[in-house]
Amino acid sequence: MSEVSGAAVSAATTGGDLLGASASSLTERFQAAFMPNYGVPPAVLVRGEGCHVWDADGRRYLDLIAGIAVSSLGHGHPALVRAVSDQAAVLAHSSNLFINEPEVLLAERLLGLLKAPARVFLANSGTEANEAALKLALKHAKTTGRTYFVAAENGFHGRTLGALSLTGKASIRDQFGPFPLDVRFVPYGDADALKQAVTPDCAAVFLEPTQGEAGVVPPPAGYFTAAREICDATGALLVLDEIQSAIGRTGHWFAHQNDGILPDVLTLAKGLGGGLPIGACVGIGDAATLFAKGDHGSTFGGNPVAAAAALAVLTTIERDGLLGHVREAGRRLAEGIAAVDHPLLAGVRGRGLWLAAVLAGDRAADVQAAAQRAGFLVNAVQPDAVRLAPPLVIGLDDIDSFLAAFPAILSEVAA
Ligand SMILES: *Cc1c(COP(=O)(O)O)cnc(C)c1O
Repeated sequence: MSEVSGAAVSAATTGGDLLGASASSLTERFQAAFMPNYGVPPAVLVRGEGCHVWDADGRRYLDLIAGIAVSSLGHGHPALVRAVSDQAAVLAHSSNLFINEPEVLLAERLLGLLKAPARVFLANSGTEANEAALKLALKHAKTTGRTYFVAAENGFHGRTLGALSLTGKASIRDQFGPFPLDVRFVPYGDADALKQAVTPDCAAVFLEPTQGEAGVVPPPAGYFTAAREICDATGALLVLDEIQSAIGRTGHWFAHQNDGILPDVLTLAKGLGGGLPIGACVGIGDAATLFAKGDHGSTFGGNPVAAAAALAVLTTIERDGLLGHVREAGRRLAEGIAAVDHPLLAGVRGRGLWLAAVLAGDRAADVQAAAQRAGFLVNAVQPDAVRLAPPLVIGLDDIDSFLAAFPAILSEVAA
């Protein structure tokens, strides 16, 4: 690696428009130029390398959130850089009027990983992947006379209106309702409640394999076996939103492989592109061919640069044995947190490199801030839960450095 400053690299890659402004001035200008929907984010990031990022004041952080479980290969990974830059130079866009090779290779790779007869639709984000899944489910509803959908309380499926109507979190949903779809919410993890709610009139059940935004909440054992049986018995589609959970995050390609079941529809996004925007909706079995010509589309979906990035992510995970690494590193992180004896820490939950440190009180925002001061980026996903979703390539030494610092971070908050 050459010794080039972050600002110089940025300026070179943005055509010289980036001047290396200070964090405080960029924060002020952010607030003046953007809608206030994100509040005021706590840092300006200018550069990343491996599992570290640097802010506009030159401070270095260990990245334990990876852009919300997105930067699966960390930052500046040579395979991703090469794939993206090579493809951008060759063909950056084709639209859906034409076929491009990276999108075909990517769809084939995803089908190969699923080991089931299936077809892919490519989109650009998680919520768009879920919109495609919802339209598939609506087609299933209309062709079979079904009338409603089931989703989980506290579930998160995205912010566009279709995905939002499936999202069971009142604070982000209620002010934009009512929605035109009949969505009935059940408590997550309660197989009896699911059985009650799903009748032969139900078109589809939308679930996360572990609830991410709810605070990395895994289901009880057997829940997805029951969900699969309930859907098989009634003819409802089982749609698994694996936007946060898939592509190695839990130590498997897909989180549902932990449960030994196969969904009818699968949605992917976050970690798939390693930082490039991409989403995918995969229909399995009969759901593979529910869409007919003209039923759905996306101008950017299947974009060759995003597809090349996703291929680089999949190839690197396979070549470097990252699934096994995620299981080992995740175990070390979870066990290390569990071993911390501190009155503010109530426990740890999750699987693979996708964990929540659960606090004995609503202090997650304070822990996030204290961690940042100590050089670690984590996420206060719930008032009492701190989410950790580091790059899949994180080293055991980096995990140990966080574990060594964690008790003092908690103590600073408790003091
Ligand atoms: C992030 C997320 C989404 C939404 O993805 P966007 O790319 O932000 O639209 C949907 N479902 C789950 C489970 C997610 O974690």
